[in-house]
Amino acid sequence: MTRILISQITKLVGETVTLMGWVDTKRDHGKVTFIDLRDRSGKVQCVAFGQMGELTVESVVEITGLVKAREARNINKEIPTGSIEIEVTNYRILNKAKDLPITLDSDGKEIGEEPRLKFRYLDLRRERMQKNIRLRSNFIQALRKTLYAQEFVDIETPILTQSTKEGARDFIVPSRFQPGKFYALPQSPQQYKQLLMTAGFERYFQIARCIRDEDLRADRGFEFTQLDLEMSFVEREDVMNTVEEITKIAIKAVGGKLKDEQFPIFTYKQALEQFGSDKFDLRTDEEKKQGVLAFAWVIDFPFFKQVDKSDAAEVADSKSGWTFTHNPFSSPQEKFIKDHLEGKNLDQILTTQYDLVCNGYEAGGGSIRAHNKEVLQATFKNMGYSNEEIEQSVGHMLRAFEVGTPPHGGIALGLDRLVMILAGETSLKEVIAFPMSSSGRTAVMGAPSDVEPGLLDELGLEIKKQKNQK
Ligand code: ASP
Repeated sequence: MTRILISQITKLVGETVTLMGWVDTKRDHGKVTFIDLRDRSGKVQCVAFGQMGELTVESVVEITGLVKAREARNINKEIPTGSIEIEVTNYRILNKAKDLPITLDSDGKEIGEEPRLKFRYLDLRRERMQKNIRLRSNFIQALRKTLYAQEFVDIETPILTQSTKEGARDFIVPSRFQPGKFYALPQSPQQYKQLLMTAGFERYFQIARCIRDEDLRADRGFEFTQLDLEMSFVEREDVMNTVEEITKIAIKAVGGKLKDEQFPIFTYKQALEQFGSDKFDLRTDEEKKQGVLAFAWVIDFPFFKQVDKSDAAEVADSKSGWTFTHNPFSSPQEKFIKDHLEGKNLDQILTTQYDLVCNGYEAGGGSIRAHNKEVLQATFKNMGYSNEEIEQSVGHMLRAFEVGTPPHGGIALGLDRLVMILAGETSLKEVIAFPMSSSGRTAVMGAPSDVEPGLLDELGLEIKKQKNQK
């Protein structure tokens, strides 16, 4: 048996073919049954006489039949296979579908989050979700292709690691071999990618998963995906130009429309004055309707800010009341290095950070990094860390900065968000195959869940009763 894809069969009129896929719709007219069969390449109408009445919608079937040209009056111009139909000779049910817990014949937006995520494998079958997830794959493919062409090396970094500060809480994982000790899941590959610059790769990228224990908002889970990259021997404008070029090529490759061929640059101060925010939307109403993407850069952010006491991660990161605005591994701009090293005028120091905004969202951010140990030490000193505390937090980076680390900088682009914008969606969940629910439960499988008490023993852990637990 040779399976043929539905997209191939319009050329095969007069031949017998075997198709496999899902029953998309079924219309039973007594002796004649019509189904639309769906596979990854499209849909086609299949007609059966005196058989197929038993088929249920979304069952998986194998159908063998004759490809017939439709009569002129029956041609459906709306679909690519509208000029033909399959006259079924045999069929086989490969997996019978019972009544579906959620409907698939709409865009799904009217269905609640809980059933959509519980039955995500069904929800993903709907046309809109298929389009979104395929768009995501195509966009990532275009990014990878451009990056490889520019000599970037795709390198994975550890998932079980030590804390990397990105301003959120860490997720921690207990160690069985060293009870009482913990790994942290990476908030980003920041430190490893810098170490890859020390290691001489010069151009690194990774489609990286980042895990941050942040307060949940309707649209934010604990995990997200970013295009993470880093380059050696570069200045701020070099990274910005490279990233802009890669972004433009990949956006165009998937049919995205850009407002500006060259992304405008605003200082943080200008952005606040002009838009009241550093995440602004440059589109006109007309451009919004056309689904245009309006990118812009924002530069010249302050390096430090006063700790927001209501933010637990900020409170934990700082010991002096001052914390970093974006990234503690950044370098201050050249003209502020003296003040930075001397711990003076902290509120005046500008960082080399650049943020990429798109349609009112932060699409990415990065910076030129500290690559001399004194600069990184000063950053932590300015946040109130003692020499011992600095050693403990970033001693490994300081060691690397003692053995030939080139000047370097990079960026991370939020892929979920960019694909969301490209797809014309307003929720990140619409472009993630298995997103987390708004209450922090995983799709389909419903974690977090209890573990066997024996496992806790092995890990040397004991669960304390929460106050309001019975
Ligand atoms: N590590 C930063 C982040 O994840 C991005 C960067 O500076 O490259 O937001």
